[in-house]
Amino acid sequence: MTNPNDNLKEFHWLVEVLQTVDVGVLVLKLDYTITAWNGFIENNSGIDSADALGKNLFDVFPEVSHDWFKHKAETVVQLRNRAFTTWEQRPYVFKFRNNRPITGVTRYMYQNCTFIPVVSTTGTVENLAVIVYDVTDVATSKIKLKEVNEKLAELSRIDALTQLNNRGYWETLLESEFLRQQRNPRDLCLIIFDIDHFKKVNDTWGHPAGDEVIRAVATSVRNNSRATDISGRYGGEEFVILLIDSDIENAYSFAERLRVDIEQTQVETDVQTLNVTVSLGVSAWTDEYKNHSQWIESADQALYKAKESGRNKTVRSAS
Ligand code: GH3
Ligand code: MG
Ligand code: MG
Repeated sequence: MTNPNDNLKEFHWLVEVLQTVDVGVLVLKLDYTITAWNGFIENNSGIDSADALGKNLFDVFPEVSHDWFKHKAETVVQLRNRAFTTWEQRPYVFKFRNNRPITGVTRYMYQNCTFIPVVSTTGTVENLAVIVYDVTDVATSKIKLKEVNEKLAELSRIDALTQLNNRGYWETLLESEFLRQQRNPRDLCLIIFDIDHFKKVNDTWGHPAGDEVIRAVATSVRNNSRATDISGRYGGEEFVILLIDSDIENAYSFAERLRVDIEQTQVETDVQTLNVTVSLGVSAWTDEYKNHSQWIESADQALYKAKESGRNKTVRSAS
């Protein structure tokens, strides 16, 4: 025979789990009296349970849209079916403060909610449960991504000399990939490279010859890249390539192939056939980078080491 104490114990730990789980649970009678809620709702609303239980939902949460909520609840009860709301339809049902200030985009918690008809032992629906999910992280990253995409449309994209992406556009593409990466990580590597002793080329052979060299280097980037790689002219004679789905080994091999190709390229100019070399820094994405600038910085440091240790080299970033 089952010991009634066992049932009680089981009930006790169930309540314990409900109290501490990281989603909100709120149970209402059909007249919208609050009959139960868990620690998530209490902590995020800042309202003491003692002040809410037995009270009407709309008195406790005046910001909840009456008509909308009642319509949703009645449909759920009548059809005995669950219903869902997403932050995209309605950013939040309950106005809880955003407790993840690092996201910075919103003051309030974005929520997805599920409405569940609670069927009693007699088979009737006497209660309604609302489950509240905090989706602030997903929502803010999607919103930021949308903002970035809008910014993309505004920028003119192509560098006139090389026909590669210009710096502004390339950086926005990088930022967009960086944000995507926080939701769906994959192997990403960044290469930044700079032509060696380029001032000498300009000083000796003139600026137009220097331009020809820059164009030839860009052609080599294009010839060696895959369709998914995102390359750009980052500065005067500095270039960047973002390699999608490449681990550090692949990226390093790519960089070395490019380095050798550029070294072997004979650049025909009006004055002379020229040869140049480049130094490259390679850095794999890790979740330690808080923003895309930190990632560029790490690749740039690797490039600096390549210069320092003799040029015409590829150096991997330490992290
Ligand atoms: P390092 O090996 O250390 O890179 O030496 P460097 O001489 O290449 O030094 P740095 O990278 O600082 O040189 C950049 C030079 O590139 C200076 C600038 O005159 C030249 N430059 C920048 N943009 C252009 C351009 O569009 N056309 C030409 N011809 N030259 C440019
Ligand atoms: Mg430079
Ligand atoms: Mg240089």
